[in-house]
Amino acid sequence: MEKRQSVIFRVTPQDPHAHVFQVICEIPSPTTNGQQFSIPSWIPGSYLIREFAKHVVDISAHSSTGPVALTKIDKQTWCADKCESALTITYSVYAFDPSIRAAYLDQFIGFFNGTSLFIKPHGLENSHFTVSLDLKAHPITQNWEIATTLPTQVNDYDELVDHPFLMGNLSRHAFDVDGIPHSIVLDRPIKADFNRLCNDLEKICRTQIELFDTAAPFSSYMFLVRVEEDGYGGLEHRSCSALLCKPHDFPVVGDTSITDHYRSFLGLCSHEYFHAWNVKRIKPKAFEELTYDQEQYTSLLWIFEGITSYYDDLALVRSGVISQKSYLDLLGKTITRVYQTPGRLKQSLAESSYDTWIKFYRPDENSPNSHISYYTKGSLVALALDLTIRQSTSGKKSLDDIMKALWQRYKETGHGIEEYEFEQLAGEIAGFSLNDFFQTAVRSCDDLPLAELLTAFGIEADFHAEHTTKDPEKPIAYGYLGARYRKSDNQDVVLTHVYGNSPAMRAGLAPHDIIIAIDNARVRSSNIDTTLTRYHPEDKVCIHAFRRGDLFVSYLQMGYEPKWVCTLRLIDPKHPIRDAWLKKEFS
Ligand code: ZN
Repeated sequence: MEKRQSVIFRVTPQDPHAHVFQVICEIPSPTTNGQQFSIPSWIPGSYLIREFAKHVVDISAHSSTGPVALTKIDKQTWCADKCESALTITYSVYAFDPSIRAAYLDQFIGFFNGTSLFIKPHGLENSHFTVSLDLKAHPITQNWEIATTLPTQVNDYDELVDHPFLMGNLSRHAFDVDGIPHSIVLDRPIKADFNRLCNDLEKICRTQIELFDTAAPFSSYMFLVRVEEDGYGGLEHRSCSALLCKPHDFPVVGDTSITDHYRSFLGLCSHEYFHAWNVKRIKPKAFEELTYDQEQYTSLLWIFEGITSYYDDLALVRSGVISQKSYLDLLGKTITRVYQTPGRLKQSLAESSYDTWIKFYRPDENSPNSHISYYTKGSLVALALDLTIRQSTSGKKSLDDIMKALWQRYKETGHGIEEYEFEQLAGEIAGFSLNDFFQTAVRSCDDLPLAELLTAFGIEADFHAEHTTKDPEKPIAYGYLGARYRKSDNQDVVLTHVYGNSPAMRAGLAPHDIIIAIDNARVRSSNIDTTLTRYHPEDKVCIHAFRRGDLFVSYLQMGYEPKWVCTLRLIDPKHPIRDAWLKKEFS
């Protein structure tokens, strides 16, 4: 067998003020007929063509005999002229993306994913790869620290690009789960109760490891965190996750309550951690071989994001970090988000998964009317599946058993799952046919019977309008437009979305219209909400608005607000099947 060669990447922060990393790639034995190489167009876990090659500048190549010519053969691929000796490719990458999906460098912090910085040498994807990151090379970065889970040497390109790097004046907090070292690393020091955070994360991580019933699939795990004023997001990797959060997401020393921000941050950590099993290892067949150069399609993202979204909050209650009441509050919010999206009646979960590249990741003003998220609806399908199996088997089987079986299957075969494989496996484990369930839940746009299912678990679901009171005798007479609006800093009320067949749409209002008056009285950001509460659903109003600079008048018949908001309540204080579901009692 041919000995694998060792491809080396040397990275330096070339100029933090210009946001530029320099990368030198050394290929000892380039392919003989001219080495081709490319920069990925997308990063696994975030299904959008991002064309990272657009940030590559100053690219050149040389060998021991001198410069080697490079020819661009498509937007992301180069070909180096034939050369007999080792090939060295030197290039700079502009890095100023504030998300955790690309690369960033300034005088305060640095961050990159391999998909933004590392070229993929075609034909040599299964080489040994090593990376050196030299922060001493620039006076600004010389005292920075580095956090990454990248091993000293990896054996393929997929692994090379699955370990992001965070650098700067880092703040590290370690904890241990069943002997496996874990840590959370922040891009700056923050004043917060990190003992509590580590303690809560340890419980959540242990709950997930125990769910899969075997040893964790990594030898260590790191949460890499970028902190920004309005940050929120996460991206999963095989032994770490990159997270974006706000400074006030962290718990304050001395405060033992769980704020919504802290609960949401724990949910984000829980979500990305669950992905270490579900999508990084158990994966769709379509992701078994990643090409990085174009879209890779699957109808199964609802399994990988929806089921993960179901277990992220479930792990919080099972681990005892939040109460059952708090969990029902989260679940009610997810149900509300799905019901507030009329697009659920137009797009199935399978379609939402398949079209994520052009729809979910590229939302526009009509998205609520035409799309449904495979995260939120997917998590409700996971809930309905779990409750259906628990109810039909008197609690003997559940979605936990399906996840365990998927994990066993992965360990035995290493293969991705085919389009119908999950459904077949679920039916086998449940012991009864789930064909009708999946047909409705995944391939139709019909609503799920969630309220009935939850009732069987001692939980009452109440659907009501957003602007309402608990007292049915005194409902708020709220004038409903059927549009969402943005309150801009200059007090303009700008419509962002107009729901299909709503009062606003029937009156001819459209996204981007600026509403300036209702019944000839000026409305602004500061008074639009209170203005609408003064109207009755049966009132007719005159609206003045601007569209692309032209003033127009429209007459709008207000309407009744749809009952889209779901509140969940425990009706039985004790309920054995519900307790088995919400408590950590895995067999
Ligand atoms: Zn996810």
